[in-house]
Amino acid sequence: MKIKINIIIVMILGITVFSNYTFGQCQQLEVDRNNDVNQIGDVDEIRDLQDSLATNFPNICKEVIIGTSVSGYDIVALKFSDNVNVDETEPEILLTFCIHGDENNPEQVAMKLARKLCLDYNSDSQITELINTREIWIIAVMNPDGLRGINWYNRPNANGIDMNRNYGYMWNAEDFDPNEYSEPETKATRDFILSRNFNVMIDYHAGLQGIIYPWYYKGEDCPDNIDIEYLANQYDVISGYPSNEFAVDKGYDLYPTNGALVEFAYGSLGIYAFSVELMLFTNPIYNSCQLLTMNKPAIFMMLKKAGEGIEGVVTDVNSGTGLKAKIEVEGRIPSYSGATNGDYHRYLQAGTYNIKISATGYASQTTTVNVSDNAVTTTDFQLTPNSIYSAQKIITCRNHNNYNDPAKTWKALGKSDGEYYAIGDTGYVVVDMEAPIVDVSGSDITIHGSASGTGNEFEAFYSSTIDGPWTSLGTGSSTTSFDINGAANARYIRIEDNGNGTENILGAGFHLDAVTAGSVSANINTFATKETIKVYPNPTFGVLYFDNIEKLDVKSIKVFNSSGILIKNIEATNSIDFSYLTKGVYFIQFYSKNNISTQKIIKR
Ligand SMILES: [Zn+2]
Repeated sequence: MKIKINIIIVMILGITVFSNYTFGQCQQLEVDRNNDVNQIGDVDEIRDLQDSLATNFPNICKEVIIGTSVSGYDIVALKFSDNVNVDETEPEILLTFCIHGDENNPEQVAMKLARKLCLDYNSDSQITELINTREIWIIAVMNPDGLRGINWYNRPNANGIDMNRNYGYMWNAEDFDPNEYSEPETKATRDFILSRNFNVMIDYHAGLQGIIYPWYYKGEDCPDNIDIEYLANQYDVISGYPSNEFAVDKGYDLYPTNGALVEFAYGSLGIYAFSVELMLFTNPIYNSCQLLTMNKPAIFMMLKKAGEGIEGVVTDVNSGTGLKAKIEVEGRIPSYSGATNGDYHRYLQAGTYNIKISATGYASQTTTVNVSDNAVTTTDFQLTPNSIYSAQKIITCRNHNNYNDPAKTWKALGKSDGEYYAIGDTGYVVVDMEAPIVDVSGSDITIHGSASGTGNEFEAFYSSTIDGPWTSLGTGSSTTSFDINGAANARYIRIEDNGNGTENILGAGFHLDAVTAGSVSANINTFATKETIKVYPNPTFGVLYFDNIEKLDVKSIKVFNSSGILIKNIEATNSIDFSYLTKGVYFIQFYSKNNISTQKIIKR
């Protein structure tokens, strides 16, 4: 019966969607939330509208439930694109709303924009073009508990935590946070963002009026300031706000905060990330239809710019498999290519740029590209495997706002190069190795430090999951190797400074140059199907046979010795003769276009 009722609701909302199309007007949805405790309809109505759009426009709108709030509400991301069920090599943009539940209107603007994208596809040429060439994601309600008013005041989630101080990049225990990423809503949005390759994101708020950009925790320009500030100014120019009503500010200059969502998106992943404050709570007060009208041209400009600058795909030279690669424009924060296709996108103004492309387990490549205004320069990279595996992403960092250090967190990534991030006295950092480290005989992992002596002692930990629990590897004060000693799936490494140095100086705390491993078990997804590749006999004395090679469309096979050294790299085959290899442990990797599967082999 409940199912039937839901279907009827969807049908009714479907009709609403289409009738609105007929009249072509922006429909008022908002209720007077500040004076009305019966706000439940808001959250539920938005949830039904999300279902309705995905149901009525299945070719261009897809719904993904990315997590659940403390009180059990869905956190929903809607994707808008042609071929919406396929992850194409298109620029990905994320628009987020309602991280603060007390700021009327952002979520209403989100749903009206979402509906407009669906309704005007194929009639509005600009919307059609954007949907055909971009992957646009909208999270209309990041904080459903707050919007529903579950807490004593609506801004935080049901645990009373302000989610926009809870993200881990330069988190600093503002408000009542027990630790970084403590909340289910924060984890959900973090993991969703990590799973994609967004290159522009905007987080919408209300209470002020303007566009704000990194850094939020410190006053200096971010490494991408020249482009980020340009885009922020463009948003101001192109938006329909009356002149002098809209501010353009660095976050820190407006008011310093730690642990903001956009700081994580930019600091950890190189996403050009902005906050837009839609309106003041005093005059003039705009309704959400007016707000959409004023912001739409600026949003569309951002969506367009997200596809300009540089782009391309990064693949394995042998298999053509898309790689999660680190894209470094000289002097900038690194960004990343997508897991499915290895595609990358980054807005840059006209100029000449040196670019370095690297991936864990591959030799890096560099090149110089020329970028023209309002255009994109396409450069593809085919990387050759090697045996050096290294940390790829900063998940968490906390240096207690040491403004005397440049805090170039990204210097701790990639292989050892003498450049480092000083993690701060009692500071800590969590890095992602991108895949589990393989336990070999002897040391498995090396923490590279650029200095030793008092003040540089650290303790290292590992975990199979992003939030721990953490198991200690041991301590060190300069470059030190550790044995993970039988641990399976050690992928995240946490490094804590032990706090016996000096705070708030240049280079405070341990100097983290790199985290490297002899081998990792796989650097992208394992096979998505339930079927696995059967490898037999294992242990083997001679020929090793494989089943399902054709069925899973395996393109190439690699064999590594126990030290992670690549010893064989061949096209797909149904057997390999191991008889000439010495006794011991080997790892064999099967590559299809989008997946890698790893298996451990014993040679007798
Ligand atoms: Zn806010």
